[in-house]
Amino acid sequence: MAEPSRRLAFLNAGAVATGPAEAGPVRRPTWDDVGLVRGVGIGVEDGRIALLAPDDEVGEWFHAAASPDSVVDCEGRLVTAGLVDCHTHAVFGAPRLEDHARRARGEGYKAIAAAGGGILSTVADFRARSEDELVALAIPRLALLGSLGTTVVEIKSGYGLALEPELKALRAIARLREHVPLRLVATFLGAHEVPPEYRSRRDAYVQLVIEEMLPAVVRAGLAEFCDVFCEPGVFSLEESAAILGVAGAYGLGLKLHADELDPSGGAELAARLGASSADHLGAISGAGIEALAASGTVAVLLPGTLMFLGQARQAPARALVDAGAVVALATDFNPGSSPGANLPLMMTLAVSQARLQPEEAFIAATANAAHAVGLSGERGRVAVGLPADLVVWNCRDVRELAYWYGMPLAWRVYASGRPCHDPEPGISSLGSVGRPLVPPLS
Ligand SMILES: [Zn+2]
Repeated sequence: MAEPSRRLAFLNAGAVATGPAEAGPVRRPTWDDVGLVRGVGIGVEDGRIALLAPDDEVGEWFHAAASPDSVVDCEGRLVTAGLVDCHTHAVFGAPRLEDHARRARGEGYKAIAAAGGGILSTVADFRARSEDELVALAIPRLALLGSLGTTVVEIKSGYGLALEPELKALRAIARLREHVPLRLVATFLGAHEVPPEYRSRRDAYVQLVIEEMLPAVVRAGLAEFCDVFCEPGVFSLEESAAILGVAGAYGLGLKLHADELDPSGGAELAARLGASSADHLGAISGAGIEALAASGTVAVLLPGTLMFLGQARQAPARALVDAGAVVALATDFNPGSSPGANLPLMMTLAVSQARLQPEEAFIAATANAAHAVGLSGERGRVAVGLPADLVVWNCRDVRELAYWYGMPLAWRVYASGRPCHDPEPGISSLGSVGRPLVPPLS
């Protein structure tokens, strides 16, 4: 991979949406301020934002360098921080095409599992694949995700469900850092499901996670967070609390798949444990909303999952925001329930299906998502000193990101000053492709 540019200048931006001025989570009443500034350029040095100033100042600074690298002429486009996908299961093998088709024929979760599908088919597939193969499969998937404007990706283990394959997943994530310029955050999710060989002795699996897997993961330094799938029939509140209690004592950040299908008290547990995030929340109770609003735990909403599964409901995003909770968005990218990693599309769903305002959806996919993965001090905003995760969009207004749904709007994407998406000259023959979709202000 190429060394980071020494000096890079972004000039002629229509506007820069810097995000919040300060690090930290954003909640009501100020959280829809996208920090729009006009007439400024951005100077990048050795992968970090060095200057946010009028264009002529940035131009002068750039040309004064001993080794200026390149100028990005934004041609009036919008510039923002890279998006942060704070919940994915992006390291996996085969897709689950048959599950998708079966759901369309009206088959439910149990019928699909009985036919050999469901998460356990992904576990069997994952265990059979080599680490090299999993890395090779993840590289183009992450490259695609980067091309859509995402520069930070949280990735969970959880398809191994045994010591060695769980370590294989986390080692694969570590190796991917050498192949893609994105900032990858690794989460240990050994308690994603009870594997088939432990179905008659669940307690023994919880013990295995606590006594063997967690210490091995921590010893190897392979994870920043620990997550548990807390849901009736998967891991109970007590089991989740036991696992996360130990993970917290090891110094890992805590996350919880909570209240996805039933309001079982997962959100309350996450708040009580001081978890970084409680994720899904499709069935969160009123008490759960209050608990999150009174806590620093980020409510991570995954609207693509409910859409892909054909559910007619979404998590109560508006109620969470209005109650004062910190709300973030993510894709849940995984082969079963959300085989998509288009975070701007999640912003669309949040607006169209869950009643967030477009500016709120932007903050939820940047600053608040960064906070959910412990990175609010360094990602999700445009500010001097931060890594240069920058996206130049083929649009002029932040609200367009959630508006042109499903369209790949990112024009140039940089992660720590390194280009991860540069579509030209491949599309130059298409003429107008690559131009903003809204005419310039007259
Ligand atoms: Zn998940």
